[in-house]
Amino acid sequence: MNNSQNPELGSEGAADQVLARFASARLWAAHRAPYLASAVFALTPVVLAPLVDERTGGLVPDPEFRAFPVDTRWHVHLETGTALTTPVPEIGWWLLHHIGHLVRAHAARSPVRAETTVSAAAGAPGDTEARRWNQAADAEINDDLAAEGLPGPDGVISPAVLGLPPHLTAEEYLSRLDVLAEAVGRGGHELAESVDCGSAADGVRRDQELPESGGGPTELERELLERSLAVGIQDRVAARSEVPLGWRRWAEARLQPAVNWRARLAALIRRGHGLTSGRVDFSHRRPSRRAGSCPDIALPAMVQPVPAAVVVIDTSGSVSSVRLRRLLSEVTAILHGVGGTGRRLRVLCCDLTAHPVQEVTRAEDVVLLGGGGTDMRAGIAEATALRPRPDLVIVLTDGQTPWPVRRLAVPLLVCLIGEDGSAPEWAHTVRIPEEEP
Ligand SMILES: [Zn+2]
Repeated sequence: MNNSQNPELGSEGAADQVLARFASARLWAAHRAPYLASAVFALTPVVLAPLVDERTGGLVPDPEFRAFPVDTRWHVHLETGTALTTPVPEIGWWLLHHIGHLVRAHAARSPVRAETTVSAAAGAPGDTEARRWNQAADAEINDDLAAEGLPGPDGVISPAVLGLPPHLTAEEYLSRLDVLAEAVGRGGHELAESVDCGSAADGVRRDQELPESGGGPTELERELLERSLAVGIQDRVAARSEVPLGWRRWAEARLQPAVNWRARLAALIRRGHGLTSGRVDFSHRRPSRRAGSCPDIALPAMVQPVPAAVVVIDTSGSVSSVRLRRLLSEVTAILHGVGGTGRRLRVLCCDLTAHPVQEVTRAEDVVLLGGGGTDMRAGIAEATALRPRPDLVIVLTDGQTPWPVRRLAVPLLVCLIGEDGSAPEWAHTVRIPEEEP
């Protein structure tokens, strides 16, 4: 049977061929950049309906989909005609390129408004900003690929092609591209061939993309995948394997929250007080001395309120008491740094219910009571009902607990131990590693 007379059968056979090429390209990519292999295998192929030449009935490449665009849910869009005419290593190069967009969070960093119409066609109205951001993000990725000996297909953008320094961020390239475009673009020239990398690059949904419910890794799966990529890259660096500079920096930054949790915790505790009654405010409680010569006017006096945090400890048994004790010592040390040592600290242990409040000056004097189920809501309710009223509630937990639905009247700081639990969106959260070297 002649395929051209039966386009449906023809495209079915073509789809299988496209998927086979994708599988080969994936292997190529994983082999060329082993530190990105797990991400390459997390991509899901989506074969787009082919463009058929009306005269010959044959499949033709659609230039709009040259870059095999990727969405934010890790789907790679394979335009049939393009995939069948592009060499496997080139498809593989695009896969590595798109991993760059995905894990470097270009969609989340994108300045492009969500309602923008995006198209690869140069000169399309309304999307100069989108194309410029796509190019800036591409420049951030492509010098790492070039450093790996993978310069990419003809016409793709790179810092070298633009005459710009390597190893900058997309945001830094964006401002330089604007300047370049201003200088070069007066005659209407484009800086480089325009490619559309999809919503993974700019966060703007495309028509061909599957709906939100269309599968792909979940938020948590992506988080875990990125962490394991970053750890793998750092292991390679430690073993003196070559990893391009941009990827090394990415891995460092990706893992930094875990490394820097102490600094973040201290900053949040200080800010927690500062945002509420910790700041110096004016009150009319005592007359100001300056008013002495002018008795008719009562000037406000400066009052420095005492910060009053209450610590709620999850003693349900899922967190090791050694970990809790060490964390409690750290929190106490920070609080003493803010309010002065010797100040009494109120601590509540909580499992399914809140245990009696303990007032201590040293973390080691706290008696850890509990061991039943977990409901931090009980401890939080007890803490906020205490008198004098706290201006900050700090919860030490693994997050395997129900949380209050509504924002509290006082700031809530959650020290979230380990990777599995969660805290309410409205709370301040610091992730704390379960174990430390
Ligand atoms: Zn791109």
